[in-house]
Amino acid sequence: MSRVFDGYAAAEGIASGPIHRLDWGVPAVPHEVIEASEVERELDRFADARSWVRDRILEIKARTEARLGPVEARIFDPQLLMLDDPEMVDEVTRYIRDNRLSAARAFEWRMLEIQARWTRTGHAMVLDRLNDLEDLQIRLLHRLLGLPDPSDLARVGTDVVLVTRDLTPSLTVQLDPKHVLAIAADRGTRTAHWVILARSLEIPTVVGLGSLFQQVRDGQEAIVDGRIGRVVVDPDERDRAVFLERRRQLEAWEEEAEFIATQDAITADGQPVALRANLDLPGEAQHAAHFGAQGIGLFRTEFLVVGRNAVPDEDEQYEAYRAVTEHFPHHAVYIRTFDLGGDKFPMFLHMPREENPFLGWRAIRVCLDMPELFRTQLRAILRSTAHGDVRIMLPLINDVEEISRVRELLEEEEDNLKADGVPFNPGYKVGILVETPAAALEAVELSRHCDFFSIGTNDLTQYTLAVDRTNSRLARLFNPFHPAVVRQLAQVARVAKAAGIEVSVCGEMAANPMGAFLLLGLDITSLSVAWPSLPEIKKVIRQFRVEDARRAAAAAVEAQTGREVAAVLTEGIGATVDLSVFAGRWNLSPG
Ligand code: PEP
Ligand code: MG
Repeated sequence: MSRVFDGYAAAEGIASGPIHRLDWGVPAVPHEVIEASEVERELDRFADARSWVRDRILEIKARTEARLGPVEARIFDPQLLMLDDPEMVDEVTRYIRDNRLSAARAFEWRMLEIQARWTRTGHAMVLDRLNDLEDLQIRLLHRLLGLPDPSDLARVGTDVVLVTRDLTPSLTVQLDPKHVLAIAADRGTRTAHWVILARSLEIPTVVGLGSLFQQVRDGQEAIVDGRIGRVVVDPDERDRAVFLERRRQLEAWEEEAEFIATQDAITADGQPVALRANLDLPGEAQHAAHFGAQGIGLFRTEFLVVGRNAVPDEDEQYEAYRAVTEHFPHHAVYIRTFDLGGDKFPMFLHMPREENPFLGWRAIRVCLDMPELFRTQLRAILRSTAHGDVRIMLPLINDVEEISRVRELLEEEEDNLKADGVPFNPGYKVGILVETPAAALEAVELSRHCDFFSIGTNDLTQYTLAVDRTNSRLARLFNPFHPAVVRQLAQVARVAKAAGIEVSVCGEMAANPMGAFLLLGLDITSLSVAWPSLPEIKKVIRQFRVEDARRAAAAAVEAQTGREVAAVLTEGIGATVDLSVFAGRWNLSPG
């Protein structure tokens, strides 16, 4: 009998195939004590294993660079570095020599010590760096114990649906989309770094499935629907028929999407919309341009540094910003300054472990506390203004002083560039992300100090409702259509209009048909969405009338509950847009 597992839609697409359970875990190491005569042999085995693992990582790195580009390939640098770190190698050597441990056991001991120390001292990197360390541990131990590398899918010989507890960025980038039909993971959220990479690789992905891994076997058939977040194991005839029909629809849609890409983003009654793309990795710019994005509404630059052990220097950042900008000679590119912290930790930052990272040292707070890091980025962005309409966007702004401080830094860096004879365009704009209730309440004051607002509804929802955006247990409570959020949207739009500055939305809400309808009804006519959503949201926009959206939005602002907001919006948009296409993917029901 078929079994249905519902999780969260994380990367578009639908696929079916045999399950391969990727058990990416640290293998058990037998406790082995060696004879004095075996010491040299174990030292040799340790050196051999390191060299084998190094070659393998270099090979994966080269493949990643060819497929995704140099930025993504650097994800492997920390592992390569650790492989030769004397802190690790010398101690393992000592354990083999002095304590007579086997190479595997000695290495395992050392890893446990390093992990315990990192966790205890709170010299965080806790997320990314521990992940990297674990990846290395898994690879090296498999080699030392003579086990096959679990990530070597070529071994499996067939195209598979990968079922896993969780993944890491480094493991994800080495997946070959030709052989991995889809990913189904027990853990993970849409904003987890490996999930973002899976989207870039265009592998259909469902996350937050709970305990799927335990409940399936290798070779069982599974259908993964990355559009609605569903996995069907052992599908029956009916499930297969549904799958084939959905796949047919998707293929037809892909063709239609190509056509829509060439059309204008304009409502049925003639209201033009600036429809831009969100960018997580620079390589996505070409997809965004292909699908007709009118520029980049949010470039999440922190992904240039997450997973790296050193800050990319000014030239490297400049090249990345310039490359993206050059894809859009006629449109604006909004470059957001590093939004580090929260759930994004680069290794070089030595961030303190925090009880509540989303309420902690994050985004503009980090940048203002680390002027050297920030100045480098500002200089790189300033230089990229010479190549197009580059705008600077500041995350997590709560008050005017933060903007003033950034403006001071910008002025100083402009002077430095002038002194160095480096070209830039002094007419660039500076704006803020409105993503806290404080910013929404202070919008009038803030509008006097910046050139545009972009509303980050992901964080605005999280901070307004006190619902952690990464906690899959709370996903049902994460509701951008809560009246408290809707009223802030209306207020910020009103303030921006009165101040004569642009207001846009770049949170996930803009990619939701009901969200786009509400936002246009609130006179927010600039939207920015992930590139795969561009054709779909444009199609929706072209079907409804802004007149209807205004009427529905006026009622939504007066509504007492989230349910009522959803009801007025679905009724308003449902008259002209076929919402059944989106069923399951977005919660469009009023209940
Ligand atoms: C947001 O918070 O809505 C936003 C667009 O920024 P991010 O998702 O990167 O936090
Ligand atoms: Mg945000």
